[in-house]
Amino acid sequence: MNADLHCHSNISDGTLEPEAVAARAKANGVELWALTDHDEIGGQTRALEAALAIGLPYLTGTEISVTFAGVTVHIVGLGFDAADTRLVAGLAATRGGREARAREMSAELAKVGIDGAYDGALHFVGNPELISRTHFARFLVDSGVCDDTQEVFRRFLVEGKPGFVPHRWATLRDAVTWIADAGGIAVVAHPARYKFTPTEEYALFTEFKALGGRGVEVVTGAHSAGDAIRYAGTAREFDLLASRGSDFHSPEESRIDLGGLPPLPAGLVPVWSALEARIHTTD
Ligand code: AMP
Ligand code: MN
Ligand code: MN
Ligand code: MN
Repeated sequence: MNADLHCHSNISDGTLEPEAVAARAKANGVELWALTDHDEIGGQTRALEAALAIGLPYLTGTEISVTFAGVTVHIVGLGFDAADTRLVAGLAATRGGREARAREMSAELAKVGIDGAYDGALHFVGNPELISRTHFARFLVDSGVCDDTQEVFRRFLVEGKPGFVPHRWATLRDAVTWIADAGGIAVVAHPARYKFTPTEEYALFTEFKALGGRGVEVVTGAHSAGDAIRYAGTAREFDLLASRGSDFHSPEESRIDLGGLPPLPAGLVPVWSALEARIHTTD
């Protein structure tokens, strides 16, 4: 099954409209799709309607920013009720800090001689409630400071580099609870990205399970083949469902296109096998 359960539209930090992401997923052979915008489900109705119109089975999705042990961790939610009031309110609260953070990021960049970053980033924003580091990265490329977004995330906007502003996101408990109570499944996104020590990573998965989390992304755009094997082991060790998603943001920026991932390693239980009743189809 070519499932792609992690990607972004311009409702968060992707560059395509939800309808265009749906069309691209279909054209690339995706057979089950979820749009997972950061801290935002405002694109879910559009994504669902676009998917159904082209015969693409759909699961609701989001990617919640969490602070765990001082590190930003992303939790993907799949198959929830997008009208759930606590989920809607929780995501709104999580988004709420982004505006002030962005202004601080701009002030930090001004200290190293980069002026107008807030307005510059805003130029790339599709949703005023969701200004992210990606939009600053696009400004820094567009204004010629960096050649590409990869260079931006080496030289700027990350801990210890200009433009980084520490931020407190949702708690792991809240994110997992919002998703689970709305009937969905919480999944640890791209675990190889966090650079935790083995002890910290064990603590993350132990606490995630205890709170009701049920899945881990094993195959995703940021993972090497070795990472996939490693987190297949984590899925078995913690008895977690395995997810698969490109984390596609943009045709120009994303290394892996929608639907372009390798299959899940053998012997895992795919997250979609536990979500059959939550999949939207036309028939
Ligand atoms: P924010 O939620 O504002 O902290 O922005 C996080 C987003 O920045 C991620 O979802 C990615 O889209 C992007 N990002 C973070 N680190 C990198 C990186 N090393 N390379 C490319 N994009 C990155
Ligand atoms: Mn992103
Ligand atoms: Mn992420
Ligand atoms: Mn993502």
